[in-house]
Amino acid sequence: MPRCCISWRGVRAARSLLADADELLGVGGLTTGYGAEPVLHAVDLQVREGEMVALLGANGAGKSTLMRSLSGLHRPLRGGIHLGGTELSGLRAEQIVRLGLVLVPEGRQVFPELTVLDNIRLGAFLQPEDRERRVEEMLTRFPRLRERLHQRAGLLSGGEQQMLAIARALMSKPRVLLLDEPSLGLAPKIIEELFAVLDRLRGEKMTLLLVDQMAALALALADRAYVLENGAVVARGSAAEIAADPALAKAYLGGH
Ligand code: ATP
Repeated sequence: MPRCCISWRGVRAARSLLADADELLGVGGLTTGYGAEPVLHAVDLQVREGEMVALLGANGAGKSTLMRSLSGLHRPLRGGIHLGGTELSGLRAEQIVRLGLVLVPEGRQVFPELTVLDNIRLGAFLQPEDRERRVEEMLTRFPRLRERLHQRAGLLSGGEQQMLAIARALMSKPRVLLLDEPSLGLAPKIIEELFAVLDRLRGEKMTLLLVDQMAALALALADRAYVLENGAVVARGSAAEIAADPALAKAYLGGH
């Protein structure tokens, strides 16, 4: 385990009080698909205020479909999604962003022809007040982006593009940040930096739902976790419980 994770376990213990926090994001009986057969089967999931939840599962389990459904980019067939008690089903993606549920999509999806600065500014499209002060906050949080400020985003490294995608999402003033495979394709040292960024957000009480194939790292940081298999939740529990489950460890954590 990278050095950066060692202190996280203590932090997690201190956060066990979160078990009493209010549910901020709730998913109930969510079923959806792309054709004849559903890809998600009656998924139930809760994320409490200030909590970090990891969503694990093999390729094709339905994690991205769930993230896209939460974001209004894919329509549920059945079931409900609420954010702070407001029902999201039927709302358009930009209405969902405005309410505070913001996705950092798989593959970053920055605008490659625009500068770093313009990519960050675009994140404030729906929340323009105070924009430049918040841009400055992002450049303090991600100093590498300040160095690249006037370069085209397409010229950044994968790690820098990931930080840019997170900065852009934070400009939308999220109440819950959804992260879909942020470490995908990044070098180990950059993954360590990325998880340090996520740890800092957690320390600031940002509510996070994280999909990542680096399951051991995600569980080292998360409060709770869900495991999806073939579109259904097959395990849920504290991150420590999920990490200690021998069958899950074998499937997702490289255990034996
Ligand atoms: P990965 O880690 O590989 O992205 P995942 O857990 O995120 O996997 P999804 O991408 O949600 O899984 O895919 C779930 C299932 O839905 C897979 O069988 C996939 O082939 C199918 N699927 C995903 N997107 C589409 C689409 N646009 N059209 C048809 N089927 C799709």
